Amino acid sequence: MSFFSSRDAVTTHLCPHCGAALHIARTCHEVYMRCPDCGKRFPLSEYIERADEAMERFLESVYLDRI
Ligand SMILES: [Zn+2]
Repeated sequence: MSFFSSRDAVTTHLCPHCGAALHIARTCHEVYMRCPDCGKRFPLSEYIERADEAMERFLESVYLDRI
C-alpha cells in the first residue's frame, strides 16, 4: 500500500512564493512543479538538478509509463 500517486507527489522543495511544500505533477505531455496553496506552477528544469527522492520516484514512474 502506497500513498504515492502516479500523477502528483509531494516534494521537499518549498514554494518560493508562499513557502508551502511543492508538488511534482504531470499531465499527459509535461511534468512540472506546482504549489497546492497558491496555485503557481514552476518549470521542472529549475528543480531537476536538485531532485529529491520523491521527484526521482515520480520521474521513474513517468518514464516507465512511456515505455
Ligand atoms: Zn505557493
